[in-house]
Amino acid sequence: MKDRSRWLPIAQARAPFWAGVDLGGTNIKVGLVDDDGRTVAFHTEKTLVDRGPEDVCRRMGESVRTVAELAGVALSDIPRAGLGTPGPQDLKAGFIIRAGNFPGFDGFNVRDRVSHHAGLPVTFANDATAAGFGEHWIGAAAHLESLVLLTLGTGVGGSIVIGEATIDGANSHASECGHILVDPAPTARMCPCGKRGHLEAYASAKSLVAMARERIDAGTAAGLTQAVAGGAELTPELVWAQAKTGDAASLELIDTVARWLGIGITTLLHTLDPAIVLLGGAMTFGGEPDPVGHAFLERIRAEVRERAFPLLVERTPIRFATLGGDAGYVGAAGMARAEHLRLHPSDA
Ligand SMILES: [Zn+2]
Repeated sequence: MKDRSRWLPIAQARAPFWAGVDLGGTNIKVGLVDDDGRTVAFHTEKTLVDRGPEDVCRRMGESVRTVAELAGVALSDIPRAGLGTPGPQDLKAGFIIRAGNFPGFDGFNVRDRVSHHAGLPVTFANDATAAGFGEHWIGAAAHLESLVLLTLGTGVGGSIVIGEATIDGANSHASECGHILVDPAPTARMCPCGKRGHLEAYASAKSLVAMARERIDAGTAAGLTQAVAGGAELTPELVWAQAKTGDAASLELIDTVARWLGIGITTLLHTLDPAIVLLGGAMTFGGEPDPVGHAFLERIRAEVRERAFPLLVERTPIRFATLGGDAGYVGAAGMARAEHLRLHPSDA
């Protein structure tokens, strides 16, 4: 939340405060929220991953102190911070493991190093999971018992929250909804994880661009071909812009993504019976107010209607998430709060 006018004035805030850190490949976002999850200060800076893990962790820890200063809150009024990072991770140990975008981080204890530099205990979380917890705390799933969030970005992130619990798994690999199997055919699309037929191979920004490229190469996407020839970069935004003008190939591509998402969501409904399913991330085609975003959501719902138990179709809303780019740090802060209350029930 870069816009300072949207920060809650400290006089209206409710102590204690919780810090949330969202580590991305490009940016670090750090927010301080009050006990109701309202942002009182925010700071962002470039990740600069090539400076190495210790430098990145030092700057994340210092940023926690920065947001405390910006808000005029003493560190002693912040019981705990939350840190969300991309996976895969070993959440119990505090590591990111084998993450392509974070060379040199393998086996480095990011949780303990951020804790050291911030001077606070740190709750370590998967970034997608944290985003879901944010929606659960103050977003589109507030006051609901459970949720599944699919974050549609470069990849497809997943978050499952039930009660106050995030579903992390025995090996920190649960809630990987982007890697549920939707197509077992030998010819299924290859997922960036190296296995075929996973949802992410059909429903991520990367896969949309790959499918668009295939149509351009096959000569079945005149509008996109012309736009790319004119110097436009082939991105989900370009497909969205073309779809807005009624370009048939672009509309079909977005329809395909929606159909596969509906298939994946059907499995999640039958496995978890969540109170709500949310779609977040950068690739939501403008969301509900945009005709393309609206049609995208309706197409997902239609596919689920075809395939899921009627009672679940009737009772489970499928909607867009509401916190946008704030979900990660808000959720990490919320998870820190939840862990603090678990460890110190008398503070509840
Ligand atoms: Zn996969």
